[in-house]
Amino acid sequence: MNGTPRIVVLPGDGIGPEIVAATREVLDALGEFAYDERLMGGCSIDAHGTALTDEVLDACRGADAVLLGAVGGPKWDTTDPNAPRPEQGLLGLRKGMGLYANLRPVRPSPALVGSSPLREERIAGTDLLVVRELTGGIYFGDSGRDGDVAHDTCEYSVGEIDRIARTAFDAARRRAGGSGRKPKVTSVDKANVLETSRLWREVVGRVAGDYADVELEHLLVDNAAMQLVSRPADFDVVLSENLFGDILSDEAAMLTGSLGMLPSASLGAEGAPGLFEPVHGSAPDIAGQGVANPLATFLSAAMMLRHGFGRGEDAARIETAVDAVLEQGLRTADLASGDEDQVGTAEMTAAVLAELDG
Ligand code: NAD
Repeated sequence: MNGTPRIVVLPGDGIGPEIVAATREVLDALGEFAYDERLMGGCSIDAHGTALTDEVLDACRGADAVLLGAVGGPKWDTTDPNAPRPEQGLLGLRKGMGLYANLRPVRPSPALVGSSPLREERIAGTDLLVVRELTGGIYFGDSGRDGDVAHDTCEYSVGEIDRIARTAFDAARRRAGGSGRKPKVTSVDKANVLETSRLWREVVGRVAGDYADVELEHLLVDNAAMQLVSRPADFDVVLSENLFGDILSDEAAMLTGSLGMLPSASLGAEGAPGLFEPVHGSAPDIAGQGVANPLATFLSAAMMLRHGFGRGEDAARIETAVDAVLEQGLRTADLASGDEDQVGTAEMTAAVLAELDG
């Protein structure tokens, strides 16, 4: 990428503005970025009557990347189907930016393996990435009701499977880097029952032909759900269609036991801007108190540097700094257990900045 990267920043609602401001400090420690801060979500409903204005969507499309905090909160909760909702902004962004791949890395920080619901010896060494197809499948097929009968149709085209498979194989290669480790993609389907899954398996197998250096394994989704908790450390990249990926990515996310630690990226076509955001929501219960855990957003910024700007080294610097402050024992309230000392957003941010400086 040439020149200063242009980032549209969407702090959103609740703790969003707090964690995004902290993340800008971290990014500023790594280089120069041009920020364009905009309203999206509940704050945009208050100002403009809609969660995402055309102007903001255009700005996002024209940026090098979009960094999002979180949206939503009780103020905008409504049962009125015609009232605007903050989540509409997220869906509008996905659609308007053509984001078809959702990437969720699951890498429990060594200092936090004790927070996992799994025993330490099972979770140790886990470092996997779930790549989920985001715009096809049963969520977007024809659906309806006829009397007592309802249907939801699952459809996938060769083109849709091909492009998400390439995202997964490319990500596997990038993750292995120069480590000498053979990258692996585990493709998840239900090919023993579903025709869309048989097409999925066929196309993924064909794409694998272009990636001779990457190992491919196929798993049925029921088996994958079991293996993810019984041997999580054996996975590298998990590739899945929309519905299976929705479920498996939450299952995989809980392996860490720490919602405040999980980043995500949503990517579109090669060269188009991606959207980077923490997995957690706007946490309205703690908004404005200065106690939010900013680490998932720092790690989302690391994904932006790696996947959006090709700056893997800077991404690794953030990840190493996050591991280091956790190793030092720093814990925000959501991570602290028992009588462990707690720090707020500002102290956690200062500690990460000190690591980056050191
Ligand atoms: P949530 O993730 O906001 O909060 C769940 C619990 O985790 C809360 O107790 C919260 O205090 C805590 N928590 C979450 N993130 C934290 C952080 N960074 N530091 C410390 N504690 C943290 O989920 P929810 O309560 O179900 O939803 C709250 C709002 O967020 C709702 O309006 C929901 O629609 C919205 N939401 C938005 C997104 C998004 O913007 N992508 C995702 C999920 C939920």
